[in-house]
Amino acid sequence: MMDMHCHVDLYPNHQEILNDIRQSNYYVLSVTTVPSAWEGTVKLTEGLNHCKTALGLHPQLAHQRENELVLFDKLVDQTRYIGEIGLDGSSGYKEHLDVQLSVFKHILNKCEEFDDKILTIHSLNAVEQILDCLNQFPKSGTPILHWFLATKKQVFKAAELGCYFSIGPAMLQSSRGKKIISWLPQDRVLLETDGPFAKVDGKVLFPSNVNLVIEYLNQQWDMETQSVLDRLSHNLVTLLSSRK
Ligand SMILES: [Zn+2]
Repeated sequence: MMDMHCHVDLYPNHQEILNDIRQSNYYVLSVTTVPSAWEGTVKLTEGLNHCKTALGLHPQLAHQRENELVLFDKLVDQTRYIGEIGLDGSSGYKEHLDVQLSVFKHILNKCEEFDDKILTIHSLNAVEQILDCLNQFPKSGTPILHWFLATKKQVFKAAELGCYFSIGPAMLQSSRGKKIISWLPQDRVLLETDGPFAKVDGKVLFPSNVNLVIEYLNQQWDMETQSVLDRLSHNLVTLLSSRK
């Protein structure tokens, strides 16, 4: 299985997260929030099979770390995986939307120089702007919308743009989250935790906790566990073979 959005470097106890990845043997997309964290995070997970480090600049940090775009550009050809990137229109961040937009567009534009990027995207309270940007940079790569909170119409629009959707145990904590999951095309669903930020019952999530989502999809999709696993594995293989 997989965790397509995990902040491995930000767990307080690195040994604990590394053990979970090793024991589960899940494919883990280890996202970073600033380009200066990329090299250290690569080293942290060295030797772990199926653990990939993404190069990111988090929208909540864009206004403070815009200067790191130079480093982003320098490192961008060293990894296929980009994230966490995106936009955040929530209170406390929406006043920086202009700089967030210029950072996000810079990154998408840079990624258009390649044909194989996979992007994990934060879209909290900025879904419409995210979809507009993806529409504007169609060759930037294959987007995965992480913890996507949107309307049904926006879900369809995103699917049309070729987006995947990564869903985690924390999304099952709200009826809104569950409703959104019911709208997702099954062939675009991936799993994530967003640990250590995301929690369930006050406990920090680890990659192995994606099992909670598999159990949920059993019922939601009315499928045997093995069929759910096959579906999700197939989605991951398709994602990894995508080019654009
Ligand atoms: Zn995140």
